[in-house]
Amino acid sequence: MNLSDAIHFSLKRVELELFSPGSVFSIYSLAASFSCAIFILTLWRFRRRGRVNLRALLRAIFSRKLFKRESTFADINLFILSVTLMPVIVGALVISSNSVALSVHSALNQLFGVYGTIDISPLSKKIISTIILFLAYEIGYYVDHYLKHRVSILWELHKLHHTADVLTPLTNFRNHPIDNLVFGYMLAFFIGGASGFLDWMFAQKTVIFSVDGKNIIFIFFLWTIGHLQHSEFWIPFRGLWGYLILSPAHHQIHHSRDPQHFNRNLGSVLAIWDWLFGTLEIPSECNPKLIFGAKQDGSNPHSLYGILVTPFINSVHALFDGLIRRLKNLFMMRAQGLR
Ligand SMILES: [Zn+2]
Ligand SMILES: [Zn+2]
Repeated sequence: MNLSDAIHFSLKRVELELFSPGSVFSIYSLAASFSCAIFILTLWRFRRRGRVNLRALLRAIFSRKLFKRESTFADINLFILSVTLMPVIVGALVISSNSVALSVHSALNQLFGVYGTIDISPLSKKIISTIILFLAYEIGYYVDHYLKHRVSILWELHKLHHTADVLTPLTNFRNHPIDNLVFGYMLAFFIGGASGFLDWMFAQKTVIFSVDGKNIIFIFFLWTIGHLQHSEFWIPFRGLWGYLILSPAHHQIHHSRDPQHFNRNLGSVLAIWDWLFGTLEIPSECNPKLIFGAKQDGSNPHSLYGILVTPFINSVHALFDGLIRRLKNLFMMRAQGLR
Protein backbone atom coordinates (compact mmCIF):
# COMPACT_ATOMS: atom_id res chain seq x y z
CA MET A 1 0.00 0.00 0.00
CA ASN A 2 1.57 3.37 -1.02
CA LEU A 3 1.11 6.70 0.81
CA SER A 4 -1.84 7.89 -1.30
CA ASP A 5 -3.66 4.55 -0.78
CA ALA A 6 -3.00 4.80 2.97
CA ILE A 7 -4.42 8.36 3.11
CA HIS A 8 -7.46 7.31 1.03
CA PHE A 9 -8.03 4.29 3.30
CA SER A 10 -7.75 6.43 6.46
CA LEU A 11 -10.14 9.11 5.16
CA LYS A 12 -12.66 6.42 4.18
CA ARG A 13 -12.53 4.94 7.71
CA VAL A 14 -13.01 8.36 9.33
CA GLU A 15 -15.93 9.07 6.95
CA LEU A 16 -17.54 5.72 7.85
CA GLU A 17 -17.13 6.46 11.57
CA LEU A 18 -18.75 9.89 11.20
CA PHE A 19 -21.62 9.01 8.86
CA SER A 20 -22.73 5.45 9.78
CA PRO A 21 -25.76 5.63 12.11
CA GLY A 22 -24.48 2.62 14.09
CA SER A 23 -20.93 3.89 14.61
CA VAL A 24 -19.70 4.95 18.06
CA PHE A 25 -18.94 8.51 16.87
CA SER A 26 -21.56 9.32 14.22
CA ILE A 27 -22.53 12.96 13.75
CA TYR A 28 -26.17 11.84 14.18
CA SER A 29 -25.59 10.38 17.66
CA LEU A 30 -23.51 13.43 18.62
CA ALA A 31 -26.28 15.80 17.47
CA ALA A 32 -28.94 13.73 19.29
CA SER A 33 -26.87 13.59 22.53
CA PHE A 34 -26.17 17.34 22.50
CA SER A 35 -29.86 18.04 21.82
CA CYS A 36 -30.65 15.92 24.92
CA ALA A 37 -28.11 17.95 26.94
CA ILE A 38 -29.63 21.27 25.81
CA PHE A 39 -33.14 20.01 26.56
CA ILE A 40 -32.28 18.67 30.07
CA LEU A 41 -30.18 21.68 31.10
CA THR A 42 -32.79 24.16 29.79
CA LEU A 43 -35.55 22.36 31.69
CA TRP A 44 -33.54 22.27 34.97
CA ARG A 45 -32.49 25.92 34.75
CA PHE A 46 -36.09 26.95 34.00
CA ARG A 47 -37.36 24.92 37.00
CA ARG A 48 -34.77 26.46 39.33
CA ARG A 49 -34.86 30.09 38.20
CA GLY A 50 -38.05 30.41 36.14
CA ARG A 51 -36.00 31.73 33.18
CA VAL A 52 -33.18 30.58 30.88
CA ASN A 53 -30.22 32.60 29.63
CA LEU A 54 -29.81 30.84 26.28
CA ARG A 55 -26.53 32.63 25.40
CA ALA A 56 -24.89 31.54 28.68
CA LEU A 57 -26.14 28.00 28.13
CA LEU A 58 -24.72 27.82 24.58
CA ARG A 59 -21.42 29.31 25.81
CA ALA A 60 -21.23 26.52 28.42
CA ILE A 61 -22.02 23.83 25.84
CA PHE A 62 -19.68 24.99 23.06
CA SER A 63 -16.87 26.09 25.37
CA ARG A 64 -13.84 27.15 23.29
CA LYS A 65 -11.42 26.17 26.07
CA LEU A 66 -12.12 22.47 25.32
CA PHE A 67 -10.74 22.78 21.80
CA LYS A 68 -7.61 24.69 22.78
CA ARG A 69 -6.26 22.11 25.20
CA GLU A 70 -3.39 19.69 24.45
CA SER A 71 -5.57 16.98 26.01
CA THR A 72 -8.14 17.35 23.20
CA PHE A 73 -5.44 17.11 20.50
CA ALA A 74 -4.18 13.87 22.10
CA ASP A 75 -7.80 12.57 22.00
CA ILE A 76 -8.04 13.50 18.28
CA ASN A 77 -4.80 11.57 17.52
CA LEU A 78 -6.11 8.51 19.36
CA PHE A 79 -9.49 8.84 17.59
CA ILE A 80 -7.74 8.70 14.19
CA LEU A 81 -5.64 5.71 15.32
CA SER A 82 -8.76 3.96 16.69
CA VAL A 83 -10.83 4.26 13.52
CA THR A 84 -8.05 3.66 10.98
CA LEU A 85 -5.52 1.10 12.26
CA MET A 86 -7.24 -0.44 15.30
CA PRO A 87 -10.01 -2.31 13.39
CA VAL A 88 -7.30 -3.96 11.24
CA ILE A 89 -5.14 -4.85 14.31
CA VAL A 90 -8.13 -6.07 16.37
CA GLY A 91 -9.39 -8.10 13.37
CA ALA A 92 -5.99 -9.78 13.02
CA LEU A 93 -5.16 -10.37 16.71
CA VAL A 94 -8.42 -10.76 18.65
CA ILE A 95 -10.46 -13.93 18.56
CA SER A 96 -13.92 -13.19 17.10
CA SER A 97 -17.08 -13.53 19.20
CA ASN A 98 -18.44 -15.75 16.37
CA SER A 99 -15.70 -18.36 16.90
CA VAL A 100 -16.30 -18.28 20.68
CA ALA A 101 -20.06 -18.69 20.04
CA LEU A 102 -19.42 -21.70 17.75
CA SER A 103 -17.19 -23.39 20.37
CA VAL A 104 -19.70 -22.76 23.21
CA HIS A 105 -22.61 -23.98 21.04
CA SER A 106 -20.87 -27.23 20.08
CA ALA A 107 -19.64 -27.79 23.69
CA LEU A 108 -23.24 -27.42 25.00
CA ASN A 109 -24.52 -29.77 22.27
CA GLN A 110 -21.97 -32.39 23.31
CA LEU A 111 -22.62 -31.98 27.05
CA PHE A 112 -26.43 -31.70 27.11
CA GLY A 113 -27.55 -32.76 23.63
CA VAL A 114 -29.40 -30.63 21.08
CA TYR A 115 -31.82 -28.25 22.76
CA GLY A 116 -34.31 -25.89 21.13
CA THR A 117 -37.71 -27.02 22.30
CA ILE A 118 -38.64 -23.57 23.68
CA ASP A 119 -41.91 -22.76 21.98
CA ILE A 120 -41.93 -18.98 21.65
CA SER A 121 -42.38 -16.68 18.67
CA PRO A 122 -39.39 -15.51 16.56
CA LEU A 123 -40.10 -11.95 17.80
CA SER A 124 -39.83 -13.03 21.47
CA LYS A 125 -36.57 -14.88 20.71
CA LYS A 126 -35.20 -11.72 19.07
CA ILE A 127 -36.21 -9.52 22.03
CA ILE A 128 -34.73 -11.96 24.60
CA SER A 129 -31.50 -12.28 22.56
CA THR A 130 -31.17 -8.47 22.27
CA ILE A 131 -31.52 -8.07 26.06
CA ILE A 132 -29.19 -10.97 26.94
CA LEU A 133 -26.44 -9.83 24.57
CA PHE A 134 -26.73 -6.27 25.91
CA LEU A 135 -26.34 -7.63 29.47
CA ALA A 136 -23.36 -9.75 28.32
CA TYR A 137 -21.72 -6.59 26.93
CA GLU A 138 -22.40 -4.71 30.15
CA ILE A 139 -20.97 -7.44 32.42
CA GLY A 140 -17.95 -7.87 30.11
CA TYR A 141 -17.34 -4.11 30.21
CA TYR A 142 -17.58 -4.01 34.03
CA VAL A 143 -15.23 -7.02 34.55
CA ASP A 144 -12.71 -5.59 32.06
CA HIS A 145 -12.80 -2.13 33.66
CA TYR A 146 -12.66 -3.55 37.22
CA LEU A 147 -9.53 -5.60 36.39
CA LYS A 148 -7.90 -2.60 34.68
CA HIS A 149 -8.26 -0.62 37.90
CA ARG A 150 -6.98 -3.47 40.13
CA VAL A 151 -4.18 -5.20 38.18
CA SER A 152 -1.11 -2.95 37.93
CA ILE A 153 0.03 -4.18 34.45
CA LEU A 154 -3.42 -3.36 33.06
CA TRP A 155 -3.78 -0.12 35.06
CA GLU A 156 -0.58 1.33 33.55
CA LEU A 157 -2.22 0.98 30.10
CA HIS A 158 -5.73 2.05 31.15
CA LYS A 159 -4.37 5.06 33.08
CA LEU A 160 -4.03 6.81 29.71
CA HIS A 161 -7.85 7.15 29.59
CA HIS A 162 -7.67 8.96 32.92
CA THR A 163 -4.96 11.42 31.85
CA ALA A 164 -7.51 13.54 29.93
CA ASP A 165 -7.72 16.85 31.80
CA VAL A 166 -10.77 17.99 29.82
CA LEU A 167 -13.61 15.68 28.80
CA THR A 168 -15.11 15.77 25.28
CA PRO A 169 -16.85 12.91 23.40
CA LEU A 170 -13.46 12.25 21.76
CA THR A 171 -12.10 11.16 25.17
CA ASN A 172 -14.00 7.91 24.56
CA PHE A 173 -11.17 7.05 22.13
CA ARG A 174 -8.38 7.94 24.58
CA ASN A 175 -7.28 4.34 25.08
CA HIS A 176 -3.95 2.61 24.53
CA PRO A 177 -4.03 0.13 21.57
CA ILE A 178 -3.10 -2.79 23.91
CA ASP A 179 -5.88 -1.72 26.31
CA ASN A 180 -8.26 -1.93 23.30
CA LEU A 181 -6.98 -5.43 22.47
CA VAL A 182 -7.63 -6.66 26.04
CA PHE A 183 -11.14 -5.14 25.83
CA GLY A 184 -11.68 -6.90 22.46
CA TYR A 185 -10.81 -10.29 24.02
CA MET A 186 -13.04 -9.66 27.04
CA LEU A 187 -16.03 -8.77 24.84
CA ALA A 188 -15.39 -11.71 22.50
CA PHE A 189 -15.61 -14.10 25.48
CA PHE A 190 -18.65 -12.53 27.13
CA ILE A 191 -20.68 -11.77 23.97
CA GLY A 192 -19.50 -14.93 22.16
CA GLY A 193 -20.28 -17.05 25.24
CA ALA A 194 -23.79 -15.59 25.55
CA SER A 195 -24.39 -15.94 21.76
CA GLY A 196 -23.29 -19.59 21.85
CA PHE A 197 -25.68 -20.23 24.75
CA LEU A 198 -28.56 -18.53 22.86
CA ASP A 199 -27.72 -20.45 19.64
CA TRP A 200 -27.98 -23.69 21.65
CA MET A 201 -31.09 -22.68 23.62
CA PHE A 202 -33.08 -21.59 20.54
CA ALA A 203 -31.38 -24.08 18.16
CA GLN A 204 -30.79 -21.32 15.62
CA LYS A 205 -28.27 -18.57 14.87
CA THR A 206 -28.87 -15.69 17.30
CA VAL A 207 -30.59 -12.66 15.77
CA ILE A 208 -30.91 -9.31 17.59
CA PHE A 209 -32.34 -5.86 16.92
CA SER A 210 -29.36 -3.88 15.67
CA VAL A 211 -28.14 -0.87 13.68
CA ASP A 212 -25.01 -1.50 11.57
CA GLY A 213 -24.41 -4.64 13.68
CA LYS A 214 -24.61 -2.79 17.03
CA ASN A 215 -27.17 -3.74 19.66
CA ILE A 216 -30.17 -1.36 19.51
CA ILE A 217 -30.19 -0.86 23.33
CA PHE A 218 -26.58 0.32 23.20
CA ILE A 219 -27.41 2.59 20.22
CA PHE A 220 -30.35 4.09 22.18
CA PHE A 221 -27.99 4.91 25.05
CA LEU A 222 -25.41 6.35 22.64
CA TRP A 223 -27.99 8.60 20.95
CA THR A 224 -29.28 9.97 24.28
CA ILE A 225 -26.71 10.32 27.07
CA GLY A 226 -23.76 8.20 25.84
CA HIS A 227 -21.58 11.04 24.51
CA LEU A 228 -22.38 13.20 27.53
CA GLN A 229 -20.45 10.85 29.84
CA HIS A 230 -17.31 12.39 28.30
CA SER A 231 -18.41 16.00 28.54
CA GLU A 232 -18.40 18.63 31.26
CA PHE A 233 -22.21 18.94 31.57
CA TRP A 234 -23.22 18.02 35.11
CA ILE A 235 -26.29 15.84 34.48
CA PRO A 236 -26.71 13.58 37.57
CA PHE A 237 -29.21 10.70 37.90
CA ARG A 238 -30.20 10.37 41.55
CA GLY A 239 -32.69 8.33 43.57
CA LEU A 240 -33.56 4.93 42.07
CA TRP A 241 -32.35 6.00 38.58
CA GLY A 242 -28.90 6.67 40.08
CA TYR A 243 -28.72 2.99 41.12
CA LEU A 244 -29.82 1.73 37.68
CA ILE A 245 -28.24 3.94 35.00
CA LEU A 246 -24.83 5.64 34.91
CA SER A 247 -25.56 9.28 34.14
CA PRO A 248 -22.97 11.65 32.61
CA ALA A 249 -22.14 12.87 36.15
CA HIS A 250 -21.49 9.26 37.32
CA HIS A 251 -18.76 8.85 34.67
CA GLN A 252 -17.31 12.30 35.35
CA ILE A 253 -16.80 11.14 38.97
CA HIS A 254 -14.89 8.17 37.50
CA HIS A 255 -12.48 10.68 35.87
CA SER A 256 -12.11 12.82 39.01
CA ARG A 257 -8.64 13.49 40.42
CA ASP A 258 -10.04 13.38 43.99
CA PRO A 259 -8.73 10.16 45.71
CA GLN A 260 -12.16 9.49 47.24
CA HIS A 261 -13.49 9.01 43.68
CA PHE A 262 -10.79 6.51 42.58
CA ASN A 263 -12.11 3.14 41.28
CA ARG A 264 -15.76 4.29 41.39
CA ASN A 265 -18.49 3.93 38.72
CA LEU A 266 -16.77 1.33 36.53
CA GLY A 267 -19.78 0.30 34.41
CA SER A 268 -20.82 1.39 30.92
CA VAL A 269 -24.59 2.03 30.82
CA LEU A 270 -26.01 0.14 33.82
CA ALA A 271 -25.13 1.16 37.38
CA ILE A 272 -26.34 -2.13 38.83
CA TRP A 273 -22.92 -3.92 38.68
CA ASP A 274 -21.33 -1.00 40.55
CA TRP A 275 -24.21 -1.14 43.04
CA LEU A 276 -23.86 -4.93 43.50
CA PHE A 277 -20.05 -4.91 43.86
CA GLY A 278 -19.75 -1.80 46.04
CA THR A 279 -18.11 0.57 43.53
CA LEU A 280 -21.08 2.91 42.98
CA GLU A 281 -20.84 6.63 43.78
CA ILE A 282 -24.09 8.54 43.33
CA PRO A 283 -23.41 12.09 42.08
CA SER A 284 -24.51 15.13 44.04
CA GLU A 285 -27.27 17.35 42.66
CA CYS A 286 -25.04 20.44 42.44
CA ASN A 287 -21.99 20.51 40.20
CA PRO A 288 -18.93 19.92 42.50
CA LYS A 289 -16.61 21.34 39.76
CA LEU A 290 -14.43 18.24 39.58
CA ILE A 291 -10.82 18.37 38.41
CA PHE A 292 -10.01 15.63 35.87
CA GLY A 293 -6.74 13.78 35.24
CA ALA A 294 -4.54 11.01 36.63
CA LYS A 295 -1.68 13.11 38.01
CA GLN A 296 -2.21 15.05 41.24
CA ASP A 297 0.12 17.83 40.04
CA GLY A 298 -1.83 18.15 36.76
CA SER A 299 1.15 17.05 34.58
CA ASN A 300 -0.86 14.63 32.43
CA PRO A 301 1.01 13.38 29.32
CA HIS A 302 -0.42 14.38 25.92
CA SER A 303 2.53 13.92 23.51
CA LEU A 304 2.55 10.91 21.14
CA TYR A 305 5.42 9.39 23.17
CA GLY A 306 3.55 10.01 26.43
CA ILE A 307 0.29 8.44 25.22
CA LEU A 308 1.66 5.49 23.23
CA VAL A 309 5.15 4.54 24.51
CA THR A 310 5.17 5.53 28.23
CA PRO A 311 2.07 3.43 29.19
CA PHE A 312 3.63 0.38 27.49
CA ILE A 313 7.00 0.85 29.28
CA ASN A 314 5.23 1.38 32.64
CA SER A 315 3.15 -1.75 32.07
CA VAL A 316 6.29 -3.84 31.34
CA HIS A 317 7.92 -2.39 34.51
CA ALA A 318 4.83 -3.36 36.52
CA LEU A 319 5.06 -6.89 35.09
CA PHE A 320 8.75 -7.27 36.06
CA ASP A 321 8.23 -5.62 39.47
CA GLY A 322 5.47 -8.17 40.18
CA LEU A 323 7.67 -11.10 39.02
CA ILE A 324 10.67 -9.93 41.08
CA ARG A 325 8.47 -9.48 44.18
CA ARG A 326 7.08 -13.01 43.77
CA LEU A 327 10.55 -14.52 43.26
CA LYS A 328 11.86 -12.68 46.36
CA ASN A 329 8.94 -14.03 48.43
CA LEU A 330 9.61 -17.54 47.12
CA PHE A 331 13.34 -17.40 48.02
CA MET A 332 12.56 -16.01 51.48
CA MET A 333 10.02 -18.78 52.15
CA ARG A 334 12.54 -21.39 51.01
CA ALA A 335 15.33 -19.84 53.12
CA GLN A 336 13.05 -19.85 56.20
CA GLY A 337 12.12 -23.49 55.50
CA LEU A 338 15.82 -24.49 55.37
CA ARG A 339 16.60 -22.90 58.76
ZN1 LIG B 1 -11.26 3.74 34.30
ZN1 LIG C 1 -14.14 7.70 30.48
